[in-house]
Amino acid sequence: MKRFIFVIGERSNIFWNRLIILLIALLFWLPSISQSQSIALSFDDGFDPRNQPLASSWNRSILEALSNAQIKSILFPAGKRVDSPAGLRLVRDWGKAGHAVANHTYSHLNFCSENTTLEQFILDTEKNETLLKGLPGWTKRLRFPYLKEGETISKRDGFRSWLTDYGYKSGAVSIDASDWYYNKRYLSWRASHPYDDPSPFRTAYLNHLWNRATYCDSLSKRILKRSVRHVLLLHTKAINASFLPDIIAMFRSKGWEFISPEEAYEDPVYAITPMVLPAGESVLWALAKQNGLNGLRYPAESDVYEKPLLDKLGL
Ligand SMILES: [Zn+2]
Repeated sequence: MKRFIFVIGERSNIFWNRLIILLIALLFWLPSISQSQSIALSFDDGFDPRNQPLASSWNRSILEALSNAQIKSILFPAGKRVDSPAGLRLVRDWGKAGHAVANHTYSHLNFCSENTTLEQFILDTEKNETLLKGLPGWTKRLRFPYLKEGETISKRDGFRSWLTDYGYKSGAVSIDASDWYYNKRYLSWRASHPYDDPSPFRTAYLNHLWNRATYCDSLSKRILKRSVRHVLLLHTKAINASFLPDIIAMFRSKGWEFISPEEAYEDPVYAITPMVLPAGESVLWALAKQNGLNGLRYPAESDVYEKPLLDKLGL
C-alpha cells in the first residue's frame, strides 16, 4: 500500500512538473506569436530593355517567383528607365499580374541635393504620373529616389503638402538594404565565374537581407514597442531575378508572413512624418533619429558597409 501511494505520488509529481514546464513554455511562446512579423515586398526603378538585354527575362523571373509564392507586391518605376514601348510593356506585366504600380519620379533626382528644387521635384513627379497613370495597377503612392525626402524644412514640408493635396499616399519603407550593391558585385562575380555554383553568393546576400530586416525590426520594437507591418525595399535587379524564391523561403522559414503592400501600408506607422533633417531613409530609421537613439549610421545603407564583407568572402 505504501509503495502504491509512493508510485501515485511520484507520478503525480511528474505530472505537475510537466504541467509547470508546459506553462512556462507557453508564457515564452505566446508573446512570440503575438509579435510575429509580417512583411510586404516592394521593387524600385523598373528594368530598361534599351540597355539591359536580359530585362525581359529578369522581369519574368521576378514575376514568376511572386506568382509561385502567391505574393502581391508593388513596383515603383522611374520613368527615365521604363519610358520606351518595351520598358512600359514590362511595367504593364506587373499590373496585369495584380501588383500595384506607383510613382518613383521620372528622373530619379536626389531630393536632398541642393541642386534639386521643390518645383523641379514636383514637376518630375507629375511627369512620371503622366507616363504611368494609364497602366493597370496604377496607385498614387510615392517612393522617394534614394529615400531622400529633402534637406531643408521648406523642401521637406513643401513636398509633403503637395503629396497630400494631390492625393498621394505613403510609399515609405521600413526595411532598407543594399541589394543594389550586392547586385553590382554579383554581376562582376558571375562574369568571372560563369560556371560556378552561386551558393556562396546567395548565402552572403540572404545573410545581408536577414541582417537588415532583423535590425529594422529591433528598431521597431525599441521605438514603438511592437513589430510594424514591414515594407522591404528591393530593386528590379538581376540578383533578385536569381534569388527571389530563396529570399521568400528564408523569411517564411523564420516565421515571417508575407502580406500585400496595401495591407502593410494600413499600419499607422506609415502615416507618421518624422520631423528630421535631412529627411528620409526608412521610416523606422527616421523615427529612431527623431527619438535621439544613439549609434545610428548615416546613410543608413551604403556600399562602404558591405564592401569589406564581400571582399573578405572573396565574392
Ligand atoms: Zn530608385
